[in-house]
Amino acid sequence: MPNNLSHPLLTLLLDSLPDGLLVIGEDRKVLYLNQRFREMWHVPNDFPVRDDRALITLVLSQLKDPDHFIEVVERAYQTEKHFIDELEFIDGRVFSRRSASLNSDIHGRARIWIFTDITALKEADIDVLTDVYNRRCFENNYTNWVASANERHWSALVMVDIDHFKPYNDNYGHLAGDEALRKVSAVLKEQVKRYDDQVYRYGGEEFVLLLSGHDRTALLKHVEEIRLKVLALGIPHEENPPYAMLTLSIGCIFFQQPHDPFALFHEVDKQLYKAKEQGRNCLMESTLLP
Ligand code: GH3
Ligand code: MG
Ligand code: MG
Repeated sequence: MPNNLSHPLLTLLLDSLPDGLLVIGEDRKVLYLNQRFREMWHVPNDFPVRDDRALITLVLSQLKDPDHFIEVVERAYQTEKHFIDELEFIDGRVFSRRSASLNSDIHGRARIWIFTDITALKEADIDVLTDVYNRRCFENNYTNWVASANERHWSALVMVDIDHFKPYNDNYGHLAGDEALRKVSAVLKEQVKRYDDQVYRYGGEEFVLLLSGHDRTALLKHVEEIRLKVLALGIPHEENPPYAMLTLSIGCIFFQQPHDPFALFHEVDKQLYKAKEQGRNCLMESTLLP
């Protein structure tokens, strides 16, 4: 078995990969891209790929957050580190993006970018009604998230439950109920936009948020804002006295070290139960000290 692959075989091999490959030289010019990269990024065969500016314009025009793309690229060129992140497309696709630096005698400090289409994988993790992560995804991530807690930051496990949602459905109908669930989810998503924070639909009208931050008080304020923002939506709910608006009850646990995930979940559930007992439309929290 020869060690040196012939050029045509190498080309065939690289073009048959399921991932899109792009190699950029030290001068930021395109050194190589494979056929799969062209397909994934809709690069026409007659496109002037040596013109890196034209290529980057084409790439950015397809992304939901082009600024983030540029920011990460700039950061990557200041380090030799490998990294991985995700890119969301305007057309709904999601790619994983990996990058590693390649040091070559001929090309200097180049970088390889590897793109994998993970749309189907991501879709399996998303709740179709509310467009937040689903229970399955929660079950996959929760234990690792708890285990990653440490004293350098605060972790917050948050459980959010819509108040008297059964009578809301009975009174306004199931379709209105679905619409309310979507509006609440949109508030949750908006409030959990920071990197690493996540919102899951745990079941029915219950959501779980996994948050982290350096300042416990600021985190608590951030969670309390969720309750206030949903109240401010002003969704009429006659069966929810005395507010007559759709409201949330919230339980929250702060901690700074790994705990038993089941015990932690039980604790947050207890706080949520307390919030219901206190008359709903409120947040109850506790902090677990080492
Ligand atoms: P509490 O304030 O104590 O939480 O009372 P609740 O009525 O909100 O709680 P309960 O658990 O009795 O009812 C939850 C209701 O949520 C039951 C069901 O009608 C509604 N629900 C669950 N999933 C969906 C959904 O996907 N769509 C709609 N429209 N309603 C849902
Ligand atoms: Mg409820
Ligand atoms: Mg409930």
